[in-house]
Amino acid sequence: MNQDSIANRLRDELRGAGLRATASRVAVLRLLRGAGQPLSHGEVVRALADGPWDRSSLYRNLIDLERVGLARRTQLGAPVWRFEDASSDHAVSSHPHFVCAECGKVACLPELTVTAPEAPGFTHAAAEGKVEVQLRSRCDACREDA
Ligand SMILES: [Zn+2]
Ligand SMILES: [Zn+2]
Repeated sequence: MNQDSIANRLRDELRGAGLRATASRVAVLRLLRGAGQPLSHGEVVRALADGPWDRSSLYRNLIDLERVGLARRTQLGAPVWRFEDASSDHAVSSHPHFVCAECGKVACLPELTVTAPEAPGFTHAAAEGKVEVQLRSRCDACREDA
């Protein structure tokens, strides 16, 4: 599919969800679709730094996409909200995540399989697999700054 037809499809989805298909909403939705992992507002701003949009409009775009169900919000242990494409099958509890304790950057670790042991008070969560596993440390960028 070429770039124009991708943009057209995203515009249709935005209109179908009741939003005006502005250029920035199309850019944000396309970014989330291609990201493969949840992105924070700051990461969205950096990724779209070439565009003419400011931080606050990009934030409103994320909130709009979440409101109409095109994006999903997740927190992943860092004190920062992250947004992802609502149609992705990314399930936070299906695999561990690396979370940088400095900047909150997140990476999916799909190749690790963790079985949650049952523990008093958490038996049901473990049985349903609704447990988030996180490895917390500092990402390369934050280590280099130190
Ligand atoms: Zn970091
Ligand atoms: Zn993940």
